[in-house]
Amino acid sequence: MNTFNGILLDKTDAGFSATLSGIEEWRLPAEGDVTVAIEYSTINYKDGLAIANKSPVVRKWPMIAGIDGAGIVEASTDPQWKPGDKVILNGYGVGETHWGCLAQKARLKGDWLVSLPAEFTTSQAMAIGTAGYTSMLAVIALARHGVTPDQGEILVTGASGGVGSVAIALLSARGYNVVAATGRLYETDYLKSLGATAVMDRNELSQPGKPLQRERWAGVVDSVGSHTLANAIAQCKYNATVAACGLAQGMDLSTSVAAFILRGVTLAGIDSVYASKPRRLEAWNHLARELDKAKLDQITTVIKLSEAIARAPDILAGKLRGRFVVDVNA
Ligand code: NDP
Repeated sequence: MNTFNGILLDKTDAGFSATLSGIEEWRLPAEGDVTVAIEYSTINYKDGLAIANKSPVVRKWPMIAGIDGAGIVEASTDPQWKPGDKVILNGYGVGETHWGCLAQKARLKGDWLVSLPAEFTTSQAMAIGTAGYTSMLAVIALARHGVTPDQGEILVTGASGGVGSVAIALLSARGYNVVAATGRLYETDYLKSLGATAVMDRNELSQPGKPLQRERWAGVVDSVGSHTLANAIAQCKYNATVAACGLAQGMDLSTSVAAFILRGVTLAGIDSVYASKPRRLEAWNHLARELDKAKLDQITTVIKLSEAIARAPDILAGKLRGRFVVDVNA
């Protein structure tokens, strides 16, 4: 009987379990028209939550973890794809309600997949992963709202994390002047090598503050939420845009309308999971053209599938720097 290895999450009367398991292929979900031999997956913040059972990310049991995957089509009844095609999967509830990609095999819907850009290997695509593709969506949102490099500094919060690290590289490549906010000031050299022009202590942003503060930012990419996001909004210049994509500090947002109605600030929400196909293709096309591969290599650590369960909680503790790629066949 054919089996494949995967990170199987389960919740039974005996409690929660996360195990590296051999899984029979016949158990792959019937929903889906493309079978993909996964080569690489990754550990996103949401994978950390799922594997550590920290928040209700998983809504069907048992579940194979992994919201991201890149690999080669093995079989397809969807005319968009044929065996041998190299594909990327980001989101769509995979790893949450549909078996995921921290596994050697996945059955997915053809409509969820995008072609691997020729510029990337499957490993590099997962070094980008949902975190990096979300960074690109955020950078596109700033540009769409008219934020240009000449307008002033861009704040990137959660700077040493996945979204933050890729955002710094992308923004600096576009010529923006990036200020990185981090709790890891010892990573200053790393953040500057990615393109940050200055680094600040995240504690300056993490406590409750006034709804209007000294104007500083022309734009913000925030992966932290809570008081950090509120302070970032309060420090925005006239007509600035804040791309809100994460909640590493918290889901809450206590602020006032002051910055919006007195400074014309725009709060742009970023969702990667159900972003439309055109938005995804736009983001991946920009990533292919704009992301410096040397910087991508610099932010990437590759681990084995057998290490994923142990490393996943570390992302929640803010201990992982940059992006962690999982070689599912190692
Ligand atoms: P990471 O854990 O890699 O990065 C988060 C970073 O936030 C940490 O590295 C740390 O950076 C900072 N941080 C952690 N805890 C706190 C805290 N208590 N207060 C302030 N800063 C903190 O995660 P990702 O980059 O993968 O994801 C970041 C966020 O974005 C997550 O909340 C995730 O769920 C969300 N996300 C949302 C997506 C969407 O579609 N909207 C898609 C992808 C991610 P440092 O040490 O430098 O301070």
